[in-house]
Amino acid sequence: MKTAFARLLRGADIRFVRVVTCSIANVIRGKAAAVSVIDDVFRHGVGVTAALPALPVMYDTVVEASGLGPAGEVRLMPDWDTFQLVPYAPGHAQVIGDVMKDGQPWALDPRYFLKRVLGEAGRAGYEVRTGYEVEFYLLDAGGRPVDDTVFAATLGMDVAHGVVGDIVSALAAQDVIAQQLYPEAGPGQFELALAPADALTTADRMVYARQTLHAVARRAGFRAALLPKVLERAAGNGAHCHISLWRHGQNITGAPGSAHGLSDEAAAFIAGVLDHLPALAALTVASPNSYRRLQPRTWSGAFRAWGMDNREAAVRVPSNPDGGPPGHVELKTSDASSNPYLALGAVIVCGLDGLRRELSLPEPVQRDPAFLSEAQRRAAGADPLPGTLEAALAALEADRVLTDALGPELTQAYVAVKRFEWQALKDLPLEEEVALLMERY
Ligand code: GLU
Ligand code: MG
Repeated sequence: MKTAFARLLRGADIRFVRVVTCSIANVIRGKAAAVSVIDDVFRHGVGVTAALPALPVMYDTVVEASGLGPAGEVRLMPDWDTFQLVPYAPGHAQVIGDVMKDGQPWALDPRYFLKRVLGEAGRAGYEVRTGYEVEFYLLDAGGRPVDDTVFAATLGMDVAHGVVGDIVSALAAQDVIAQQLYPEAGPGQFELALAPADALTTADRMVYARQTLHAVARRAGFRAALLPKVLERAAGNGAHCHISLWRHGQNITGAPGSAHGLSDEAAAFIAGVLDHLPALAALTVASPNSYRRLQPRTWSGAFRAWGMDNREAAVRVPSNPDGGPPGHVELKTSDASSNPYLALGAVIVCGLDGLRRELSLPEPVQRDPAFLSEAQRRAAGADPLPGTLEAALAALEADRVLTDALGPELTQAYVAVKRFEWQALKDLPLEEEVALLMERY
């Protein structure tokens, strides 16, 4: 079977199979194994240093406080269900790896964290479907935006038609379907809304999507930047996360006739997310740069509030275009600097906690929370979210639900690496930060 697979790969002109993982710092890394050794890859994957989770985003150095060091080896074991040809790199295929240590799933693997959380959700009787909207800037080789158009301006579509079309086709070739595409508010900014799927598939697809955006843009002489804030005076890049709750294959997010059309389960799930949001932010808006984006009046989810069709609330409940109850909800306090496995897993942990505690929702906030008086804001619970990654990390450390779910090793490594990034980046001017990190996420 494996030999037949190798023959098939050779027949398709595939010479290397990349085994890919997304590290704690959210850098997508991988090793490419030659087809001639594919049997070995089936047996024991590819080896990488056990220091991988200790590497920050800026450069490769082991963050000591992570609890990890230079000694130790882990294996990236392919999850063959994720196998895809790499359309922009002829001769290469790719597969997402699960990180194994001594033959066991590793506590420090973000993908294993998400799998554990999904197991928990399943035992509680829930399936969670998710989908990302990916916002990005398209820049020319000199770092200038490719256009100066505004939100949904069709001129923006036309200016970048070629390269964006190539991106969308390359994504589709990897089963990553862009259901909507439009120019966003910033100059040269675009959004792709990706088709929903189960949360593990969503995270895997986010990894493939990010790689594809960068690679295809580069091949066409451009740069794609998913960094949350690229230009001081223009819109940030969100990666809003759409979520629906299902049971036995039925969407149970909405309930006709109930308050705001939400089922009690969906309301409790959202209430759990809002309850934990200051700590959750450390995992969903996960870079120092994220907090340049997370500002009032930018539709980025800077307030801990929910609202019906309210684009300034952290959680927006979009009305159903068919007139029925809502089919999903959207978390805006989310960007592409977050590791998608950790972020989605953490959102679900918080939602499940809301379900366990049978939390209920306050009344929705139906206006811009920035314009509420202090008293009104307090009454609605619409607090501003942490203003820095450092503040969000402190909230995370104090959040027993999230740290218990992550486990002690992953919590320690995550907080240490992120604090190291905060220290290194907090005083950097935006242009230098962009120069360093533009294509890292
Ligand atoms: N660019 C905005 C953000 O940073 C989102 C705009 C929108 O799609 O509502 O999240
Ligand atoms: Mg958008």
